[in-house]
Amino acid sequence: MHMTATSKLKCLCGSISEPGALLFNLEFPLSLEICHCNPCRQTTGSLGAVFPALNSSPSKDTHSKLTAYQSSGIITRYFCSTCGCPCFVYNQKQNEWFSLGGIIELSRNNATQPRDIVKVSRHDFVLDTVDGGLVPILLNLNGRSIPTWSAAAGLDHEPDSFDLSHASVLSLPKKSIGDAPPPKEDSYLTAKCHCEGVSLLIKRANYSSNPSDEVPRQAPTDPTKYLAYFCACRSCRLTSGVSMVPFALIPPTSIFNANAPALIDESSSKQKVKPLTYGHASSDSNSNPGLTLKHHWSSPDTCRSFCGKCGATISYWCNKRPDGLDLAVGILRGEEGSMARRWLQWERGQCSFHEECIDRELCDAWLGSKSVMEKIDR
Ligand SMILES: [Zn+2]
Ligand SMILES: [Zn+2]
Ligand SMILES: [Zn+2]
Ligand SMILES: [Zn+2]
Repeated sequence: MHMTATSKLKCLCGSISEPGALLFNLEFPLSLEICHCNPCRQTTGSLGAVFPALNSSPSKDTHSKLTAYQSSGIITRYFCSTCGCPCFVYNQKQNEWFSLGGIIELSRNNATQPRDIVKVSRHDFVLDTVDGGLVPILLNLNGRSIPTWSAAAGLDHEPDSFDLSHASVLSLPKKSIGDAPPPKEDSYLTAKCHCEGVSLLIKRANYSSNPSDEVPRQAPTDPTKYLAYFCACRSCRLTSGVSMVPFALIPPTSIFNANAPALIDESSSKQKVKPLTYGHASSDSNSNPGLTLKHHWSSPDTCRSFCGKCGATISYWCNKRPDGLDLAVGILRGEEGSMARRWLQWERGQCSFHEECIDRELCDAWLGSKSVMEKIDR
């Protein structure tokens, strides 16, 4: 059932607020493709994003509160300069404006709330993920068979040449890991936003042999991996522009600054990487040399960090559980693909604040994904 609902386009801090009438189509759910390409994942921190078309450019006042980042020859992305929320995209070739799907806020007292903001019509750039990302669990949605493409429409090719079969998409999770051995004990996973202004190294989890490593809220059953899950809360959505944000829960002491000059360990005179400064100590602008990190304190206890150059969501840290930092999975650069499954233990079927999710269809697919993935994953 289609319905129109009063809406707004907003970021978490409120600097960005445009009337919903700026949207080209106000009949929800909006039929849209999910883009899984590298720039979309690495500028949002997510595993895929949707882009509803706008009638025109956002207002002049809104532009004064946005930071622009040109991610390719024709695409410019705009994020809130204060809270880092990716908000708009301009396609120079088509002279068209888009918003991010996650910044759409429907009026709360609307009795006829649509169940979804977005109804997925297609998956674009599936092969950029290497491992298929979320696509294997989003092939059939409520009786719709969703086309899966290796690129996007509008490129100078016949759409047929982009068509991937569902069978080939389902083979990606296994194929991407192949015979690669698990990461060694002292190895690091790279995490980088799209512009590489935030470049981090994450030490492989080692919960069993290092008791000083903080064990997270729920311990992973595999001690060599970090737990990963989704959050669908309003605050995460309005700082990353997507309805479900993937996080890996990592002790901050295992995260290092890859852009800082290496330190010399005095006892062994070996080089060692500089730990990331996080939480209250990160407010000092010299605390993380070489990183383009910016921070938005959404409460006195809660620090949301993003890249000040490309706007990528980087992390969430809360003083109530200071020994865990939630790192946005979209910036991870695991060779095995977008979900970094040699390093992360995914809590399939778990999504914090799933009751708040504005895209029920996507959320339900994730909540029910355990049995689907057990058949094709390992
Ligand atoms: Zn903002
Ligand atoms: Zn994209
Ligand atoms: Zn959240
Ligand atoms: Zn960046």
